[in-house]
Order: sequence, then C-alpha cells, then structure tokens
Amino acid sequence: MTAPSVTIARAAGRLSRRLGRGGGTSLPGKVLLKLRPQALSELGRELPRGVTVISATNGKTTTARLVASCAREAGWDLVANTSGANLLSGVATALLDAQGRRPAPEAGLFEVDEAALVEVARQLRPRVLLLMNLFRDQLDRYGELEHLAALWTRMVAELPASATPVLNADDPAISALGAGRRGVLTFGIDDTSVALDALPHAADSTRCRLCAHPLTYDLVSLGHLGHWRCEGCGAARVSPDVRATRVTLHGATGIAVRIETPQGPVEAELPLPGLHNAYNATAATAAAIAMGIAPDAIARGLAASPAAFGRGERVTLDGRRLVLLLAKNPTGANETVRTVLLDPEPPHLLIALNDRTADGHDISWIWDVDYEPLLARAASLTLTGDRAHDLALRMRYAGHPAERMTVIPDPEAALDHAVATAPAGGTLYVLPTYTAMLGLRETLVRRGVAEAFWRER
Ligand SMILES: [Zn+2]
Repeated sequence: MTAPSVTIARAAGRLSRRLGRGGGTSLPGKVLLKLRPQALSELGRELPRGVTVISATNGKTTTARLVASCAREAGWDLVANTSGANLLSGVATALLDAQGRRPAPEAGLFEVDEAALVEVARQLRPRVLLLMNLFRDQLDRYGELEHLAALWTRMVAELPASATPVLNADDPAISALGAGRRGVLTFGIDDTSVALDALPHAADSTRCRLCAHPLTYDLVSLGHLGHWRCEGCGAARVSPDVRATRVTLHGATGIAVRIETPQGPVEAELPLPGLHNAYNATAATAAAIAMGIAPDAIARGLAASPAAFGRGERVTLDGRRLVLLLAKNPTGANETVRTVLLDPEPPHLLIALNDRTADGHDISWIWDVDYEPLLARAASLTLTGDRAHDLALRMRYAGHPAERMTVIPDPEAALDHAVATAPAGGTLYVLPTYTAMLGLRETLVRRGVAEAFWRER
C-alpha cells in the first residue's frame, strides 16, 4: 500500500523521533489510522505468511521475542511491534515502518494488549492467535477478568476456520475459549516437579468456567495455572498437544526445557530464568508449530533469544550485575519472587512501585504478593518509586524490621544506594512496576549500560 496517508504518517514518525518523544513507536500509526481507518487490514493482507498475534496478562513481550527468534532461525523475514507499543496504533506503526522494506517482510508478529486485542484481531485477521493467560491486572483500567474472558470467547468464536487459536490448557479461562472449536492447538506444562504446594493467595479464576463449581487442582504450577478439574461437571484440563515434559531451573540465570510437539521434540537451554519463562518457551513453541516452523529451528530460536527489556534483562553497573525483573501484578510479582529465590546467595533487592496510568492507580495488589520468603533471605532491601512508603508498610506487615530496609522515593538515588550496598561483583535484583522500570532503564541508558528500547531488536 502506498498512499498519501502512508507518507504523512511516516513524516509524523520522523518528526516525533527528532523531538525525542519515545522513538515514535505509536504516533505514525495513530496518524495513519485517522487518515485511513482500514489501513491495518490492508497492510496485514500484504503479508504472504499471514499474521501471528500474541496476548496475555503476563509474558507476551518475552514470548513474542521467542517466536520472532524461532521465525528468524527458520529464515522468515518478519515485521513485529516494539514492546510497549502494543495497542492498535503500535501495530499500525510497525506495519507502516515495514512498507518499502526490501526484501519485503513475509509475516507479521505482534504482541497485543489484552484490552486492545479484540479490535486488532478483527482488523488483522491473524492466522495464528496465541492466548497465554489471564491474570488479575490493573483492575481500574480493564474492569473485571470476566468481562475480558467474555470478549475473548466471542473473538475466538468469530475467527475464520482457517485460523489456529493456540491456547494454554493449564489456564481454565483460556482453555475454555476453545470449547466446541476444531483446529485448536493447546499447550501446557506436564513436568510435575514444578508444582507449588498450594494455590497462591493471588490465584484468580479458580472456579469452573462452565458450572462455577470450585476447581480441584492435582498440580498448581503458577498462579491459577496447573492441572485442574471440576468435580461439579467433569470438565478438566485436556492433555496438551505441545507439552513441556522436562523443565530444569538453573538458578536465577536460565532454564532448560524439553517440549514434545506433534512435529517432534524441542530441547533448548534459555538464558531466561524462572518457571514463568518455561511457560513462555512452551507457548512460543506452540505458536511456532502452528506457524509451520520446524522443531530444529524452534530449538535454535529459543536458545538464541535475549531477554526483552526489563524482563530478566541483565546489565552491569559499577561492577555489580543488575537483573531487571518486571513485576506489575500479583502473579507476575510472585514469579519474580520465586525466580530470585532460585539464587543460592541472599539477594540484594531494589523494589520500585509506581501508581501511574500504565501501572494501574490501585496498588492494593502488593498485599496479595507473597514477599515473606524473599524478605526472610534478603541481604539488603531498598524501596523506591512514587509509592515507596506503601511498599515499606507492606514489608513492615510482613514482619521486616524498619532498620533493615531503606526507603528512597527518588529512583536514581535509590538505584545508587542499592548498587553501593551490594558487594562488588555481586548481583542486585531490581523488581519494578512498568513505569518504574521505564524510568530506571532511562537512567541505565543515560549511563551507557543499556540500550534505548526502540533500538532493541
Ligand atoms: Zn464444572
């Protein structure tokens, strides 16, 4: 598509970049959609291998990078959106930027915000739609989980028969989206060694989607994900098509997985820590299989993918290793806690809490996070962000003495304090909410130790 609207929208992007407004990752798309509302479906149709769309409360950015890495290993030329630019306008901007690229991209790969997903899917008509999980997140922005689940149910039902929904069998709400539909590909974790002892406090949808009877879990892996069944109506987790049969957690540095697929096994070591990344790897494998990518390319792609910014990303500052683990909702925060606890050393911690629009104004979720085991082992604790004092209160209620934590609301000063507290050659775990992560990364970029996000590949 070459139309005056494309030219104008691109000029807007160049201007935005020149003015330094966030790399112009969504403005050109906004302009384009204003000038040409049908642009998304027009640009999407030009991609011969079609479009893959990924959505979830947690893990979509990392998983999109893993799928992109697999597709590249298979020799595909992709157009993908930058993490963060995951609304309609961000997707449009990515498609716009790819116009005129030689060789022309063959396929689209987009991670999309949960609330924006229905509209993006309606316009882009994805060939593969990967839906990973629905956790409670930023209630003041999205309304209830139930509402989103109802919208997604209709969206999946309205997909053309040629499209493949790729659904998480371990999430009862996601699994239910495929009811009565043919051609669904399911994924899940079968390795029983990953089990939690009980449903965490933050677990969300633990009632049957069909009859509302409380679900029984034979295994809880993460949040409300696991091997579930309903004693009310007999509904149960299906045995997934793509299943992780072996998950090995290498401390806080990486994982190894063996994943069975209908096309053969995938074995890979990933530099991404924690069980949540085993879910991301399994989801990415399932999506790649649905796209027609071979297991050997998937294995290479998983192994080659670097961390997405702020999600297990590592940088070195003043001789200390910083591990950035985004924690923006109770389930995500519980997984970061679990991941940090994999480190045998007592961890040095910097936890940052903001309550801006992209974080959600309601911070009551911190009371659902099980910080206690982390605090019991913490070597040092620095709290920062707009709501640093609320965090301090939370930690006091967890029984952590005031004299063993430092509250510095200014993030840069807090970062310097936390880095100075960790020993040279040691590791500092940074657990920020979304805008706090962006702020801390800006500091790291300014100090020359991290890449600006719109340049990441
Ligand atoms: Zn039931």
